[in-house]
Amino acid sequence: MMQDLKLFIAGEWTEGTGDDQYAVRSPVTGEHIYNVPKASAADIDRAVTAAREATEEMRHWTAFERADLCLRIYDLWQEKVEEVARILTLEQGKPYAAESIDDIEESADYFQIAAEDVKRLSGEFIPTTERNRRMFTVHRPVGVWAAITPWNFPVMIPMEYVGPGLATGNALIVKPPEFTCWALLEMAKVFEEAGVPKGAISIIPGAGGIGEAMVTHPGVDAIGFTGSSATGARIVSQMGLKRSIMEMSGNGPTIVTSDADIRKAAEAAVYGAYYNAGQVCVATERLIVLDEVHDEFVEATMKAAADVRLGDPFDDDVNMGPLNNEATAKKMDSHIADAAERGAEVLVGGKRASGHPTDLYYEFTVVDNVPEDSLISREESFGPVVPILTARDDEDAVGVANRTRLGLQAAVFTNDLTKAFYYADRIRSGTVIVNDSTDTWETFQPFGGAAGTDTGWGRQRIDEFTDLQTIVFSLREK
Ligand code: ADP
Repeated sequence: MMQDLKLFIAGEWTEGTGDDQYAVRSPVTGEHIYNVPKASAADIDRAVTAAREATEEMRHWTAFERADLCLRIYDLWQEKVEEVARILTLEQGKPYAAESIDDIEESADYFQIAAEDVKRLSGEFIPTTERNRRMFTVHRPVGVWAAITPWNFPVMIPMEYVGPGLATGNALIVKPPEFTCWALLEMAKVFEEAGVPKGAISIIPGAGGIGEAMVTHPGVDAIGFTGSSATGARIVSQMGLKRSIMEMSGNGPTIVTSDADIRKAAEAAVYGAYYNAGQVCVATERLIVLDEVHDEFVEATMKAAADVRLGDPFDDDVNMGPLNNEATAKKMDSHIADAAERGAEVLVGGKRASGHPTDLYYEFTVVDNVPEDSLISREESFGPVVPILTARDDEDAVGVANRTRLGLQAAVFTNDLTKAFYYADRIRSGTVIVNDSTDTWETFQPFGGAAGTDTGWGRQRIDEFTDLQTIVFSLREK
């Protein structure tokens, strides 16, 4: 049944004061599933004012009080996992049993971990040159954050900011894309029930213009952004002196060396390409396979690809649903056409699948002999594709791996410890994973890019949500 959603601003459910709305269709069924109001500038002002009041109050709470709030959210969250996971599948397209349940469960972990971290977030007592001087540091909340988040993990990624942000006393205005906001808005009921102060979390869905209004708003102190490098670069150029955490695109290579466990590497590559239909910043974006194991790897990949079951994401046997949106499907079309034109060989898939309710169901695709200069190798494809490139030797493989502007997460398959370190020491990316898929992460893992790439600087620790304040005491001389 079609829903009329409301914005969540300053602790209230509101239609806002804009005079427009977005109509959203499910990528799974093609049906019109909801309308969501388009916020006005006045709605954003209201959220910012309430956020300012909330953070001014919460900065005086003890770390233990904020940790308790996070743990209440964590507990209440568990009761809504199945209901919200169903909404997530309907609006995003990921398979319910295979992914959505875990996705919503993991989203809550950010509150549990933040509750633990904030209790240990201590400052320092700093030695001074003067006998009657004392100097120490304390962590203060930064203030009001705008968290601008993408559609591939529409609940989990916002919680990467909300969990540690709230635990450290910040207020957050979350802006999910308008076409994946229902599951997140449903979770706002948990924030209300847990007793989050009014305005500490507002949720205002919308397209880029709404995000831009937040980025340039003088009452917003900091930006948390997860999305494409192009949008991230635009935000950085507009935000001025605001603090930021920027997590952007990846073009993670998976390197398969001559002594790798080939079956394991192939299974990991296939998993990294079909999980969330490849719409993950750490998806398997490129395989760089050493010449001497190329044929064996291709054979193992084709075998592993047979386990991908595309279909209705509400069917428990299905492990890959539709792509989320037409822009992503079009990008896949153009990347595959470009690779074929440049002489690559499409071994399986390569087009949209017929016989489904929408045109967004994409066949699982394996492309061999991919030239390095093709779009599928140079850019992030964000679809269910394993592009196979080859390298002559380890040095050549490192060269191919590093000729990208997107260094987020890489993987290396080798059974030789020295070789593993050879690659880890040379590959320019935020994370290097040895003997597992690029699509591997832990909730508490530092996550972000490497300098010199366009991936951003990511999250490392909870203290990035704080300002370090130094307090200097001059004691009375006796
Ligand atoms: P994608 O290409 O995957 O949709 P984007 O980087 O465009 O990724 O989107 C990520 C988030 O950034 C979304 O919430 C989107 O609405 C928002 N966004 C897009 N353009 C802008 C902009 N100019 N300023 C602020 N936010 C934006």
